[in-house]
Amino acid sequence: MRISFLGLGIMGGPMARHLAAAGHAVTVFNRTPAKAAAWVAAHGGQSAPTPAQAVHDAEIVLACVGADADLRAVTLGPDGAFDAMAHGALFIDHTTVSAEIARELATEADKRGLLSVDAPVSGGQAGAENGQLTIMCGGTTEAFAVAEPVMAAYARRIGHMGPTGSGQLTKMVNQLCIAGVLQGLAEALSFGKAAGLDLGQVVDVISKGAAQSWQMDNRAATMAKGEFDFGFAVDWMRKDLGLTLDEARRLGVSLPLGALVDQFYADVQAMGGGRQDTSSLIRRLTR
Ligand code: NAP
Repeated sequence: MRISFLGLGIMGGPMARHLAAAGHAVTVFNRTPAKAAAWVAAHGGQSAPTPAQAVHDAEIVLACVGADADLRAVTLGPDGAFDAMAHGALFIDHTTVSAEIARELATEADKRGLLSVDAPVSGGQAGAENGQLTIMCGGTTEAFAVAEPVMAAYARRIGHMGPTGSGQLTKMVNQLCIAGVLQGLAEALSFGKAAGLDLGQVVDVISKGAAQSWQMDNRAATMAKGEFDFGFAVDWMRKDLGLTLDEARRLGVSLPLGALVDQFYADVQAMGGGRQDTSSLIRRLTR
């Protein structure tokens, strides 16, 4: 298929690579053009200087940028994708954004005769590199049916969660689970260390029982060593918890732990850890 990919960051670059490897004709756009040129040199295809020029003959357009304002810029802004897309083309958004903008874009897509799916991902840089992402989708059954086989190039699991916005809402559930588990793990490791236990041995044993989690399996060892310069950035997590807390306010739902961990992440940012992995929550406890 003729595919355009907007945003070749940590996540978007490898996703676009998997699409090219699957045999699609891929045109890329990146705000910083050098990244697009490097991507084309490594993986073929072509690059374009604006979203509009990247998408005009595409059957499918994907985006993975930063936050709501960035997504609005590449879709509806000057030289944005939407006014240039062909009637009937599909827009898939992999950015983690608000459910509100997902709904706004679906309305704008509909006005132009386009299909759209909100499709945030989980699995991090490693999941993108290895083509093993979990993808949570919102949109019509018709749009999802077109999107699913394309996204299969880099997914381990793809779920259609409901109408437009449901993908983003599911991602918020995902982030709340991660925030709570990480704070629990940070406190547990700090406690174990203060008690004089061998943390490696502790984790080896309790990870075979009910305390096991993805975070324990993949982050406990580096947390114990104080290594955080990799993974999913605190700045992104604060964006995601902010979106989640806004949505909770709209829904009238109380999220005391989510709100508290959000503030703990603000502490980590103040300590200079904005780009560090989310497991750096433990730094607050080991100062
Ligand atoms: P990243 O490496 O910082 O890449 C962001 C990409 O978006 C870059 O290509 C950037 O272009 C582009 N961009 C940002 N603002 C833009 C704007 N206003 N106009 C045009 N392009 C713009 O970020 P990432 O880690 O790939 O994350 C992307 C999204 O995926 C975020 O919503 C994040 O929350 C989500 N996510 C990330 C992870 C993860 O582990 N990293 C996991 C799950 C979900 P430039 O190159 O010019 O800066």
